[in-house]
Amino acid sequence: MPVKRCCYGCCKTDSRYPERMVGVFFIPFPKPKTQMEKCLIWIKACGRPHSQFSVSRITKDTYICSKVSKLYLSLIQID
Ligand SMILES: [Zn+2]
Repeated sequence: MPVKRCCYGCCKTDSRYPERMVGVFFIPFPKPKTQMEKCLIWIKACGRPHSQFSVSRITKDTYICSKVSKLYLSLIQID
């Protein structure tokens, strides 16, 4: 199974550490190929420097975790 890590700012959710995963689930990041606009909004919301995190870093294994999903819900509409 591939390692899932949350790409949000300083969030430490990581599927290699079960103790960080209690009650948490992962939400796949919108893919630039199919949802470029949404992808860009999410990247911006992650608040990380462009050099660390940008469209080119998004893969099929890029996720955010449900810990930060409330923040996302306030910023974007999850359809
Ligand atoms: Zn997270």
